[in-house]
Amino acid sequence: MKEKLYTIELTDAVKSGDECLFCWLERKLEQENLEFVLGSSYMEGDIREETSKSGFCRHHTKMMFDYGNSLGNAWIFKSRLELVNQELKRQMGRYTPARGKGLSGILKTAGFKKPCGEKAEACSEAERWIRGEEEHCYICMRMGKIYERMLDTFVYMLREDPGFGSALAESKGFCVHHFADVLMACEEKLKPQEKEVWIPRLGELMARNLDRVQEDIDWLIEKYDYRNQDADWKQSKDALQRTMQKLAGIYPADPIFKCRK
Ligand SMILES: [Zn+2]
Ligand SMILES: [Zn+2]
Repeated sequence: MKEKLYTIELTDAVKSGDECLFCWLERKLEQENLEFVLGSSYMEGDIREETSKSGFCRHHTKMMFDYGNSLGNAWIFKSRLELVNQELKRQMGRYTPARGKGLSGILKTAGFKKPCGEKAEACSEAERWIRGEEEHCYICMRMGKIYERMLDTFVYMLREDPGFGSALAESKGFCVHHFADVLMACEEKLKPQEKEVWIPRLGELMARNLDRVQEDIDWLIEKYDYRNQDADWKQSKDALQRTMQKLAGIYPADPIFKCRK
């Protein structure tokens, strides 16, 4: 493998004590990328051109505002708005309302995403263009590339580093969201005989840790019973946020990430 391996990052993550080592890595990666985007990179022409073209998803737009640096944000979003404004005018200038039910059936990509996640087809070129613009984000893109390499590194370390394997067995495993990525990476990159070893081990790691969190959240509820008011909290004080993380791969109790300067 010629590309960079993230062995140090993975080693730190597996020893972090977090409910999911990929949640831990992803949070770090996201914060580093916010710092990069709102550091001074936005004054560089080529980067501004990229951020103008890619735009930002709804989640990262909010994070950028919360991070601070109003002037930096203003420069970035001013450029993006110029581009969107120009193209939207062009799209609407040539818009012809469909006589029937729109273009449905012809435009199969970039359609309306229902709250359930199901995708409907776009009904016009202009709609399709807007939907398409919402599918890319400069920060998601930068994170995605490195995250993929981290998954590769994970599989590489499973194979090559016995110390990593035993640290993983001692760790709290993964959240369900990131476990899907782990399974995918193992299926793609491990040899059949390696899968025979690792897939059951990973399954066991998940089962053990989901049971642990289940016990914690169960006890949290029990603690609300007046008969248990003087009982020990055990590991349950933060069981709600850990349960949410285990299920959805997020840190609901995290404070807002702000510029540290
Ligand atoms: Zn996770
Ligand atoms: Zn994003």
